[in-house]
Amino acid sequence: MKKPVAADGHDVAEAWEEFVQTQVYPEPGAKAKEDYRNYDSPARDSVRRFYEENHRKQTYDFVLGKRAEFLGLDRRQMSVFEACDFLNTLVDDSDPDIELDQLQHLLQTSEAIRADGHEDWFVLVGLLHDLGKVLCLYGEPQWCVVGDTFPVGCQHSERIVYPEFFSQNPDSRDPRYNTRLGVYREGCGLRNVLMSWGHDEYLYHVMKDYLPEPALYMIRYHSFYAWHREGEYDHLCDEHDREMLSWVQKFNPYDLYSKSPQPPDWNQLRPYYSDLVAKYLPAAIAF
Ligand code: FE
Ligand code: FE
Repeated sequence: MKKPVAADGHDVAEAWEEFVQTQVYPEPGAKAKEDYRNYDSPARDSVRRFYEENHRKQTYDFVLGKRAEFLGLDRRQMSVFEACDFLNTLVDDSDPDIELDQLQHLLQTSEAIRADGHEDWFVLVGLLHDLGKVLCLYGEPQWCVVGDTFPVGCQHSERIVYPEFFSQNPDSRDPRYNTRLGVYREGCGLRNVLMSWGHDEYLYHVMKDYLPEPALYMIRYHSFYAWHREGEYDHLCDEHDREMLSWVQKFNPYDLYSKSPQPPDWNQLRPYYSDLVAKYLPAAIAF
C-alpha cells in the first residue's frame, strides 16, 4: 500500500518505541541494553535527532497553535475500524514484514489486557490508545505525534528523556515559562496543564465523550513518562490526578511489553472487537 505522507516517519516512530522499551524503561528484571545517553552509539542517531527536534520545537505557543488547528475535530468522520485501516497506511512499504504493524501493536496490547481479565473498557483502551497517530496521515511530522509528552508553560523536568535538548527550546529562557510553576498554580490539576502536542492529547479529545474517566486518563497520559514512571510534576496534580495515576501505571506495561510471539489474528478477533466498540462508541467519530 502506498503511503501518502511521512515516508521515513514510520521508521522513526518504530525506532522510538524500541528505544523506550529496550533502553529507557526495560521490562522489570531485564537490563537496559546500553546507556541511552551513550552518544557513541550511531544506531541511536535517528532517535536522538527526533528528541532534539521535539524538545526544541514543543513550546507553549506551538502547542496552542496545534490545539487550535486540530481540536475542532473537523477533518474526518471515521469508525474505529476505518481509523485502524487509515492508520495502517503508515506502514513502511520498504519493509514487507511490518504490514499491519500499527494494528498489530493495538491488538497485542488489547489482547494482553483481555487475557488478564480486566474490564472491557480497559481492553478497549488497548485497541484505541494509539489511534491518535492518524495525525501523521494529516502530514504532521513524527516529532509532534509520537514520543513522550511533558507539560509546556513551566520548567522542564530533568527526568524527561534527553533533558539537555531543552536548552534549545526558547521557553526555557522565557521567565513566563521557565519557573517551577510557570503559568500554572500549585495543585491546579493536570486538566489545566497544557501538554506537549502529540497523539495522546489529540485522541483524548476525540474520545472524551465516550469512555470512563480512567480510560481517558490512560489515553491522555500514556506517554507522560516523567509523571507515571518518574513521579515528576506532582506539584501540578490534584487529588483526582493522583487517584487516576494508578490506572495510567496499570496500562503502561501492556503498551510497552505486550509483544506476543503469536500475532493476534484480526479476522478471528474482529467480531469480539466489533461488539466491544459498538458498546461504547458511535459508528462515526469526529477526528
Ligand atoms: Fe502511544
Ligand atoms: Fe502504544
